Amino acid sequence: MPGQQAAGTPAMTVAGVPALPSPRAEQSAHVAAGHAVDHSTSLTDRDWDRALAAIDHAASVDLVCHVMPDGDALGSALAAGLALRSLGVEVRVSFGDDPQIVPGSLEFLPGQDLLVPAAAVPDQPELMITFDVADAQRLGLLRPKAEAATELVVIDHHASNGGFGTHQLIDPKAPATAVLVDELLRRLGVPLDRDIATCLYTGVATDTGSFRYAATTPATHELASRLLATGLRHDLISRRLWDTQSFGYLKVLAAALSRAELDPAAAEGRGLVWTWVPNADLLAHEVLPEEIEGLIDVVRKASEAEVTLVLKEDPDGSLRGSSRAKGAVDVAAACAALGGGGHAYAAGFTSYDGVTATVARFRAALESS
Ligand code: 5GP
Ligand code: MN
Repeated sequence: MPGQQAAGTPAMTVAGVPALPSPRAEQSAHVAAGHAVDHSTSLTDRDWDRALAAIDHAASVDLVCHVMPDGDALGSALAAGLALRSLGVEVRVSFGDDPQIVPGSLEFLPGQDLLVPAAAVPDQPELMITFDVADAQRLGLLRPKAEAATELVVIDHHASNGGFGTHQLIDPKAPATAVLVDELLRRLGVPLDRDIATCLYTGVATDTGSFRYAATTPATHELASRLLATGLRHDLISRRLWDTQSFGYLKVLAAALSRAELDPAAAEGRGLVWTWVPNADLLAHEVLPEEIEGLIDVVRKASEAEVTLVLKEDPDGSLRGSSRAKGAVDVAAACAALGGGGHAYAAGFTSYDGVTATVARFRAALESS
């Protein structure tokens, strides 16, 4: 999910919202340079050439993303799938959930005829490429197959990615994995068509919070411009991603908000707002787990809290923790202390300890991170 890297730590106003810098202070290198767009990246031509050589030699490629995929994970894998298929490569796209369910909000993504269940991925793939997978555990059922692959290319933008696989294309500066896929396609010589662009746009828009988060750069907007030029329907994509929910979701949201607690002393006085969603609420209102992924974006509006935590109960009683920060606290470190990870300002974990103990552990981890 989102890469919300902050460019610095501006002074806070009373409402907890950083003051906007003056236009003079904001003037940055690329603004000063006039029309040039900063495409800086931590990846070198050598990194790309090595991965491209592996792709060049492969007759069949398995493209996989993380379990319970979001728009960046699935959009990136499908965009690469469509592109490689256009080059005549045998392509499968998969993710390691059983049952393998594409979230309703992503059903519009083109290229889903490429999707196969994890069981249909070869036990020892010739070449596997992972998209948006921060660690091998996030591959779910596909982890053993990834570990057995002859070549494993990892394309990702999580700073917490420790670098598994045989080739790594990991750029924590990239606001979305889809940005790296755009670069891959450019180097493969595959032009953007409307279907590929729809997948990439979904990835970039998802992880930048619709171009709002700090990781969004002039280059991100320049990519959006190229994607829109293919004629994709960004208005329909946005409506589906952010403005479409079932009535039952509204009821689940209302219950979660009424359960929310504010802990102003947490995170060294910066504040924590947290809530949880019991699985029974989802059952009562016929809401699927993936429908509540965006619920945290409502909770984190609380200006009194730097950090937000939402615990989502799964049918087995385990809790999936989602955490966000606004720029002053590294929640990836706190989540890592609970066995998870992610980005500095958007991270997660899974806990088997129950709500009270999990919140207490998270709060303690915030103090020591
Ligand atoms: P979300 O809260 O949207 O589920 O996840 C936020 C970010 O944290 C995403 O980048 C996601 O990949 C990462 N993340 C969520 N859960 C886990 C986890 O259990 N382990 C790791 N390593 N990353 C996670
Ligand atoms: Mn991502």
